[in-house]
Order: sequence, then C-alpha cells, then structure tokens
Amino acid sequence: MSKDYTPLWRELGLDLVKHDGLLSVLSDAYKNIYLSQKNRPDGMKYFDFVISEVHGLRVEEIYEAKKQGRKVIGTFCIYVPEELVLALDGIFIGLCAGAEIGSEEAEKFIPRNTCALIKAFMGFKLSGLCPYVELTDLIVGETTCDGKKKAYEIFDEITKKMYVMGIPNMKNDLDKKLWLSEVVKFKDKLEQITGKKITLDNLKKATEIVNNKRIALKRLSKLRAHDPPPISGLDALLVNQIAFYDDPIRFTLKVNELCDELEERVKNSEGVVSKGTPRILIAGSPFAIPNWKLHAIVENSGAIVVGEESCVGSRNFREIVDNNFNSIEEGLEKISSRYLSIDCACFTPNNERIENIKNLYKELDADGVIHYSLQFCTPYMIEAYKLERKIDSPYMRIETDYSMEDFGQLKTRIEAFIETLR
Ligand code: SF4
Ligand code: SF4
Repeated sequence: MSKDYTPLWRELGLDLVKHDGLLSVLSDAYKNIYLSQKNRPDGMKYFDFVISEVHGLRVEEIYEAKKQGRKVIGTFCIYVPEELVLALDGIFIGLCAGAEIGSEEAEKFIPRNTCALIKAFMGFKLSGLCPYVELTDLIVGETTCDGKKKAYEIFDEITKKMYVMGIPNMKNDLDKKLWLSEVVKFKDKLEQITGKKITLDNLKKATEIVNNKRIALKRLSKLRAHDPPPISGLDALLVNQIAFYDDPIRFTLKVNELCDELEERVKNSEGVVSKGTPRILIAGSPFAIPNWKLHAIVENSGAIVVGEESCVGSRNFREIVDNNFNSIEEGLEKISSRYLSIDCACFTPNNERIENIKNLYKELDADGVIHYSLQFCTPYMIEAYKLERKIDSPYMRIETDYSMEDFGQLKTRIEAFIETLR
C-alpha cells in the first residue's frame, strides 16, 4: 500500500489489529495465487494495483466523495439496479465478502449451517473488518434466498441502514408489475437519501455508464473463447470481482485497455497456456472477493477456466439495458425488465439458466462444466442436480465453502475430472 491509512481506518471504527491480520493474509494469498502466474498481460497491473489498495486508495476516494456530499449505497446482489444509484451521483459498492475470517462472530447471530457468503458479510461487519460497510449511507438487501432475507433483519439491527427490495420468486405478469413497483420505490428512496431527482438525462447517462461496463466485461469474456486463451481464469475472475467496487468509468477504460492487449495476443496466437489445454466453465454460486480457491485448484491441475456462469461473471454482464427510452417511466420499465431477466436460482422455474449455461459452454468452446455451490446454498445446490440431468457435456458438482480444509480433497476430484477431458 502506498501510504499509511491507519488514521482513516481508525476513524471508520475498524478493529485495527484484526484488520492488519486480514490484509496480511490477503497479501500473502495474492502473492501465492496471482503473482506467481506466468505470462500475465501487462493490463493486469492496474488490477493488481487496485487489489493492493483494496482497503486503501479506493476507500479514501469514497471517503473524500462523501465529504463532497455524494451518497454511498452498498449492495449484496446483482438485482439491485446500479443505474439508479449512478443517476443520482451515488457510489455503488458490492459488499459481499469471500473470506472465512469473521465467521465465528457471525455464528453468534446466525446458524453455523448458513452459506459462507452470508456468514462472511455479517462476520466482516461484526469483526470491524470492512471499511466499505462503514462508509455506506444505505445498505440494500433483497428478498432472494431465505438465508439472506433473514440475515438482513439481523444486519439491520446491527447497522440500522438496511433497505430491502422485494424480489418476486416467479416471472409472471403480476411479478413483473410487483418488481417494477419495487424499482420505482427504490428510486424514491434514493431520491430522498441523496436529495436529488432522477431526470431523463441523468438516467440515460447512468444507463450508458453501466451498459459500457457490461459491454467491456462481455468483450473480455469473448476473448477467453480463443484457444489458447489470452488470459487466465484467475485474472479474468479478479477483473469481474473488481467490477463491484471500482469507479465504473475508470474500470471500463481499464478493462477495454486490457482487452486491446488480449486482442493482440489472440492475433499472435499467444496464450497463457498451450493450445489444447482442457477448458472449464464454472457455473453456480457467486465468487465474492477474495474467493479464488476453485480457480486456483483448476488452474494448478492442468486446466484453464474459460468462463464463470455466476453473478461474479456472465450473470452480471450478459444483458444490458435498452437505452432507447424517452421518459423516466419508460427508462424505469426498461431497467426493471433487464434486471428481472437475471437467471438466479432463487427463481422458479428457472429453465433459462440451463439454456444460458449450454449457450455459454458452446460460445466459450469449453470441454467440461464444474458446478460450484456454496455449502448450504439450497437454490444452487438443487439446480446443480437438475443441470446434471439436462446438460450434455462432461460435468461435475462441487459443494464447498471459504475454508481451505477441503483443498486437498477438491484437488484430487478436480484432477480426476480433468483427466477425463484430455
Ligand atoms: S446468486 Fe442470486 S441472490 Fe445471490 S447475488 Fe446472485 S442474483 Fe443475487
Ligand atoms: S450463495 Fe446461495 S445461499 Fe448464499 S447468499 Fe447467495 S443465494 Fe443465498
């Protein structure tokens, strides 16, 4: 980190001792997993820098923006429309956490057999580890899985900042109306918090910013379809993780610069592995930062990850908002319909997800699918079984969490799977 941010962390009320511990674990993991990779694109230097400053420069930047009156909105789910936050000059931050540290604290409030992602975001807050939570003016939850819904009630007692969007479980006409009304309510809430108004102009600009970000991520995804892939799955995952907390305009620029470099690599048939290396599509639960375990195992077992069918992956960037609207109402409708098209396993039925996985598999020219569910994530665990029956490709199911206890066992299983793809 370029400077000492201790005064800022102290002001935000972090537990400085535990926080130092977290940063040192993170920095060691990053060195071992990321910096040891060979033949990385130069464009990854920016993302390495962002990680090295994950609790430094970006936190300071947001802190300064708050002083100028901008509001910070924290979220846990890709159903929350970023466009509305940006239209009102807010800062949109993903708060999901991908490390086990703090889970013991969380288990004082929620059962042990809750998914690791929920335990992590609760644990990070309860242990005084997350500067972003402290910077938020509003934390937006959603009625997706039962674990999150109930955890938000407790999170509200702790933070007093929760606002929950009602997300339907189905996608019928009445559900669509309900969801649109939730989007409108969220707009009203944001207007009240920011003291600003949505206009046609700011809504269009914000939509363009978010669309551009998604288009850049899609461009990155398409480049991974080449053999050999010009970028590792680990690096592409990192870019997708950083999408949730970097400044969106700067982020888009840097992703496009990276893609320019990757295009050159593709032209020269230059890749991070040799041609013919087994190609894996990972599908399932989200990979909150710094959850790199599965990618690290796959890529250290002689294969390469070419795509993530995940909220930290294709589910986040597949669809963009139709920017062709002429009134605020029409804009809100287009935004609401884009978000309702997301194929999260919390919906029933959710058959489009199976089709989307099949299409992505073809597009990326993958050789096999690893379905990854966080333990106790019932929606994805159950869909993993359904997918096994419907998908016509080499397939394996994995249930895991953030701990390293099953590392060896997973590696053995994944190596055996990869062997069958050669
Ligand atoms: S898996 Fe579903 S509930 Fe979780 S972040 Fe993704 S869309 Fe939201
Ligand atoms: S990973 Fe599954 S159980 Fe955990 S928060 Fe997301 S949908 Fe809920």
